[in-house]
Amino acid sequence: MNTFEDFKIKRQLKNAIDDLGFEKPTPIQQESYSSILAGNDFVGIAQTGTGKTIAYLLPILQELKYSDQQQPRVLIIAPTRELVIQIVEEINKLTEYISVRSLAVYGGTNMKTQQAAVLEGVDILVGTPRRMYDLALSNVLRLKSIKKLVIDEVDIMLDFGFKTQLKNIFEQLPTKRQNILFSATMTEYVDQLTDDFLVNPIKKTISISGTPLDTISQEVYAAENFYTKANLLNHLLSDRDKHNKVLVFVGSRKDADRLYETLDFEEETSVIHSGKEQNHRMKSIDKFVDGTSRILIATDVISRGIDIEKISTVISFNTPLYPENYIHRIGRTGRAEQEGNSILFYNEKEEPLKEAIESLMKYTIPFIEFPDEVEVSTELTPEEQGKPEEEEEVELKRDPNKGASHHEKSAKNSKAKVEKKSYSQQLKAKYKKPIRRGDKIQNKKKNKNRRRK
Ligand code: AMP
Repeated sequence: MNTFEDFKIKRQLKNAIDDLGFEKPTPIQQESYSSILAGNDFVGIAQTGTGKTIAYLLPILQELKYSDQQQPRVLIIAPTRELVIQIVEEINKLTEYISVRSLAVYGGTNMKTQQAAVLEGVDILVGTPRRMYDLALSNVLRLKSIKKLVIDEVDIMLDFGFKTQLKNIFEQLPTKRQNILFSATMTEYVDQLTDDFLVNPIKKTISISGTPLDTISQEVYAAENFYTKANLLNHLLSDRDKHNKVLVFVGSRKDADRLYETLDFEEETSVIHSGKEQNHRMKSIDKFVDGTSRILIATDVISRGIDIEKISTVISFNTPLYPENYIHRIGRTGRAEQEGNSILFYNEKEEPLKEAIESLMKYTIPFIEFPDEVEVSTELTPEEQGKPEEEEEVELKRDPNKGASHHEKSAKNSKAKVEKKSYSQQLKAKYKKPIRRGDKIQNKKKNKNRRRK
């Protein structure tokens, strides 16, 4: 399946593809076309830029027959208005020579106009979850006619707190339908949706296309706990020449903030995660892009939309729970023929995860001895002491003993968990009082004293 001819797509679609100037299918398109066309449930782990939109649109359009039925047969749900518009634009380009009615619906626009548009008849409805559900509630949109459901950017859906809306939409859909999920990163929510709604899905993972893995030098260090890892990080970051633009991935928002407080390089460090306000996130990214900050601490989900060049070093402060996320992380360095460094930290608990990464890559990451001059801390974070964690939206729990079979369904009962607080609730809880600079310096001192012990 190396060419579009191999797909045997109808002439009108092929002509549209030719107009777009696409020469051959991207890897995710090659991986997904026949599975989706055959009607299988499908899970694709692929980032923006891999051609994932056309990966699901092409088989859907190939199969969609002309109809003047009023209610939609295909539902595509995406987390943001921008993405909804982008998807409809792609549909329009692909359907240049076929008669397909598509419609974009999203919040912030007139509900009545959109109701009228639905009543005019639509084949493919693309929208954000809340507006889609409101239209369904108003009875103008009837979801019982849906044959195919696509959820795009599932990880961002959860990040935006759309879980309830999605659940409400699912309840209105016919049980017999094809489900197609796309997510940039593998998260427990993807697993959960897969377990709850999909039937024998086919799963494919694609790393950013063309990631020049051989230009990235990889190293791994064993460090037993958070503060020991922080000491090691401080030690490594003191080599400013080698590590001149450093992206540090952490497993949770709490760890991101904690690491920021603990690092020695306050003036050179920014932090972003989904608990930070948009404004703060933009500033952090700008500072990292223009070089004001040498170091950016980030969680997986939040970092994925940012395209920053010339990153010298990617540090995985935690070992990702899903091995494919490691590939996504290190794809941020070593771009455009440049040399990049990837440094992975793991502790005893994370060892099976490190092995899963190595087996996915079919490569054993060179192990570097823990430097003598770095302090090993005995201090533990509350989470390391076994205190209950606030649920995080990034990479959620998975049983490390499950090892490399990352495509296995996790046991449903292992995932019973507390409903996530809404975004605004979390922000309120977290930033009840403004965090003043003075507070931060105090905390920083406290943390520094702690870890020297
Ligand atoms: P996406 O990952 O869906 O956001 O797509 C990223 C970009 O790749 C979009 O501008 C697409 O139009 C483009 N694209 C999709 N498929 C192909 C292809 N087979 N060849 C070249 N470009 C493509």
